[in-house]
This record gives sequence, structure tokens and C-alpha cells, in this order.
Amino acid sequence: NILFLKSFTILFLSCIAIRLNLCLSSIPSSLKSLPLGGHLNFDEVSLSHAARDFGNRYQYHPMAVLQPESVSDIASTIKHIWLMGPSSHLTVAARGHGHSLQGQAQAHGGVVINMESLKVPEMQVHVDVGNSPPYVDVSGGELWINILHETLRYGLAPRSWTDYLHLTVGGTLSNAGVSGQAFRHGPQISNVQLLEIVTGTGEVVNCSAENNGDLFHSVLGGLGQFGIITRARIVLEPAPAMVKWIRVLYSDFTAFTRDQERLISAENTFDYIEGFVIINRTGLLNNWRLSFNPQDPVQASHFKSDGRTLFCLEMAKYFNVEEIDAANQEVEEHLSRLSYIPSTLFSTEVTFVDFLDRVHISEVKLRSKGLWDVPHPWLNLLIPKSQIHNFAEVVFGNILTETSNGPVLIYPVNKSKWDNRTSVVIPEEAIFYLVAFLTSAVPSSTGTDGLEHILSQNKRILEFCESAQLGVKQYLPHYNTQQEWRAHFGPHWETFLQRKSVYDPLAILAPGQRIFQKAI
Ligand code: FAD
Repeated sequence: NILFLKSFTILFLSCIAIRLNLCLSSIPSSLKSLPLGGHLNFDEVSLSHAARDFGNRYQYHPMAVLQPESVSDIASTIKHIWLMGPSSHLTVAARGHGHSLQGQAQAHGGVVINMESLKVPEMQVHVDVGNSPPYVDVSGGELWINILHETLRYGLAPRSWTDYLHLTVGGTLSNAGVSGQAFRHGPQISNVQLLEIVTGTGEVVNCSAENNGDLFHSVLGGLGQFGIITRARIVLEPAPAMVKWIRVLYSDFTAFTRDQERLISAENTFDYIEGFVIINRTGLLNNWRLSFNPQDPVQASHFKSDGRTLFCLEMAKYFNVEEIDAANQEVEEHLSRLSYIPSTLFSTEVTFVDFLDRVHISEVKLRSKGLWDVPHPWLNLLIPKSQIHNFAEVVFGNILTETSNGPVLIYPVNKSKWDNRTSVVIPEEAIFYLVAFLTSAVPSSTGTDGLEHILSQNKRILEFCESAQLGVKQYLPHYNTQQEWRAHFGPHWETFLQRKSVYDPLAILAPGQRIFQKAI
């Protein structure tokens, strides 16, 4: 009897395994039979490419990569997977430019959609729109650098940027899109008028703040959870030809933040305000003024940091060539009200394109030295203004004392420029700081520039924020458990959950964020 039971169990399990295998192997063929204008790739090169990202730490291979030619390719693929129901385990991730840090654009065993192959709608700039600002309609897979070049042909440009432009519209709008213009214009998600979305059930929906507003706001900052952005309408403004780019140093953190906060609160100061920390043992001390000219070369040559941590305030003023005198005068006036170390005033003038595309210039240099495709254990935090001194004292004073293998950005933004109906989570105060530890790890190093050391440093920073109850939120958040996600969203969790149940009820979309598991 026991023998019979054993044989029966083995037979039964084998049948299940065969069925499962048949099921799994039939998935590609059922996908292959979809009538698509574009195509699906199943080859190893395509799958490995889709399993990589800028973070260079997580690699999950999908089963297929969709190269969509139209919105309907995306809609019919998702609808097909949705109709398979929860038992198929297939998930879908939109991949923009793959510049996530922890596999957020990956789909283990699922389908990755290469959004850059979606070329519709063709980019179209609308200049004459009555009393409203001009705008551009773009595909969700369009790179911001391409939008810059196209809109400049009309003398226009988007108002709000990221520091790096080789990212897609869908990728940055799924987070927020923050840079030195955000204090005035808000993040990129505050500068979008209309979206076309493919939801987790394969429906194509047009939405704006007024029309299908709940979906519109869900998707903005929604970490790819509610739909795939296939089209966006982005607000434009007249573009300048040139930029006056200025850097000054502080050793006093209070004076540094006071000046930053004053500048972001006043009207008509600079067009861009950021800042970064110079921890003295980094090469940055000498780097920060590279390609900048000192206002007073003699004084500047005598400046010594004396082992102090320094804070660099970075500002930019846009101008057209014929307005140079007025721009210089305005800049001088604003600078005269700041309390930086006088001998550390450095500036340069560059074209608008060179200014906005500045990180790409560094990318080219780093690539040539083999230093771009390394692990990037980045940590981005949003810190309430009332806690920034406490944070700086402990983090810059105690935790990050030795080195930082990459820039540490720090700048404030105004909460009033963020729309609280979107999905992005920000601190409660009227002003909060973005602090970004943009560290590169040296592969296989076990020292302070190695991955393990940097990760443990990040952990110490997060643990301090938690234990001191600073009210910090992660930007480009990354968590492993739903409990941590709940804590991240706080009172907004219920709304996030409810939106998920409406727009992606089987949790098919963006599994790499690790918020939901198919099916919830
Ligand atoms: P991916 O990494 O491909 O995707 C990111 C997430 O969005 C994934 O979950 C993906 O599934 C989802 N997604 C992608 N496309 C779509 C779509 N069309 N519809 C719905 N969901 C989609 N961020 C800032 O805010 N400010 C900065 O200054 C800044 N600088 C950066 C500099 C560098 C060098 C790098 C690498 C990143 C920087 N970032 C910055 C972060 C960047 O904005 C995000 O990582 C962004 O998600 C990357 O865009 P991507 O096109 O590569 O998206």
C-alpha cells in the first residue's frame, strides 16, 4: 500500500510538473501569436540587456522583450496577460532608459517593454495656444535630451528638468523628476498637462487633471504601478541661449542653508539653485571649480579648506547674449546679499544645452575610464527643513567623514510647487531638502570605496533618520517588504492600495518595485 501511495504521488507530481512546463512553454507561443506591429525578442542578448540597469546590482531576466511600434502593441500585450488571469504569473515592466538603481524596470520571467522603441506620437511642438503656455506632445519612451533639441528649434524648452537628460519621460514622471529648477516650477510631474495611459487591464485611457483626474494623479510619481505612460504633454517656456553658472563655498552650514532658503523663497533670483557637500578627503575639493573662473584669482589661489567640510552653493542665471549686462548686474545684486567665503566665487558662461546636458559630459569621461558601468548604491532622501541641521551634524559630521566616492547633492525645494494629489510621497513641511548620495562603488574593492562599505554607510544614515524620527522620505524609494512600503506611504498607503486595485488589479505592472506581488 505504501509503495502504491508513493508511486501514485510521484505520478501525480510528475503530471503537475508536465502541465506546468507545458503551460510555461505555451506562454511564449501564445505571446508570439499576438498580432503586433512591433515584435517580441526572446534571444539571450535582448533578455540580458533588459536585466541590467544603472544601479548594476540586480539582474532579473525577463521571458521576452517587447519592442512596441504603437500603443496598441502595448495594450494588446497587457490585455493578453490580463486575460490569462492570476495563474500565469506573468508580469510586465516598462523599461525607459533603464537608469533605475535596484531593478525597478525589470520583470523576472515576465515581459519587459522597451519604451524607447515606441516612436508615436511623433514629437510635436505647439506654439500658438492662445493664453495658455506652449507645449510639446511626446511618446512616453522619449529621452529628455531629444525633447530639448526638438523644442529649441522653436526657441522653447521644458521648464523643469533632471540633472541628467538621457532618461525617458515615462521613467522620470514615474518618480517626480527633480533638479535645480524645481524650487520655482515644481518637479517634472507638476509640468505635465495630459497623459495617455495603458492600464494593467490593457485599456488605453487619456487623462488630465480635469479628465480621468484620479488616473492622471495616480500615475504621476506612481512608480509604474498604475499604467504605462505612452504619451505626455509637457509645458514649455521660452528658452535662453546662455547660462551664467556660479559656484561659491561656505564652511558654515547655517549660513549655507539660510542663503539657499532665501534664494528659493524670493521671486526673480536665479533660474536654478542646487548645492553640494565637499568632504575634504574627496577629489571633489579640487574638482568643484574645474572649468570655472575665479572672480579674484589672487585671493582664490590663497584659499585653503583647512580640513573643513565645505558646502558649495550652485546657481545659474539664464540670459540671451544681448541681455548680458542686465544679467550680470542682477547676478551681482543677488550675490551681494549672500554670506559665502568671498575668495571662493567662481563662475562660467555656457550654452543652455551644455548647461542642461552637463552630466552627460561627465558620463563620456567616466565611460572612457571604465567608471560608468560600475555598481551605484545611490541613496536619495527628502528631509524636512526643520531637521536638516540635525541631519547634517550627524551624517556629514559623523557618518560620512572619510570619503564619498561621488557627489553629495543638497538643495531645498518648495512644497507648494508639488501637487498632493499625485502618488509621490514628500515630507510635510513647506520647504524640504533633497539630499542625494550619488556614490559609485569600485568593483571588487573591500575598502571604503567598495559596495559593502557604501551600503553599510547608507544603512547607518537610514537608521539614524529612523531613530531620530526626522520625518525623512526616500526619493526613488527602494524597500524589500510591503511593511516598509506601508511605512513609506504612511497615511497615503490606503489611497495607493485602492488605486492599485482599480488600475492594475492583478498587480501585473512594474514588479521590480517590489510593492505588490501578482496577484494581490
Ligand atoms: P527606468 O529605469 O527604465 O524605469 C524606472 C521605473 O519607471 C520602472 O519602475 C519602470 O517600470 C517605470 N517606467 C519606465 N517607463 C515607464 C512608462 N513609460 N510608463 C510607466 N512606467 C514607466 N532623478 C531626478 O529626479 N533628478 C535627477 O537629477 C536625476 N539624475 C539622475 C542622474 C543619473 C545619472 C541617473 C542614472 C538617474 C538620475 N535620476 C534623477 C533618477 C531617474 O530620474 C530615475 O531613475 C528614472 O526612473 C530613470 O528613467 P529611465 O527612463 O531610465 O527609467
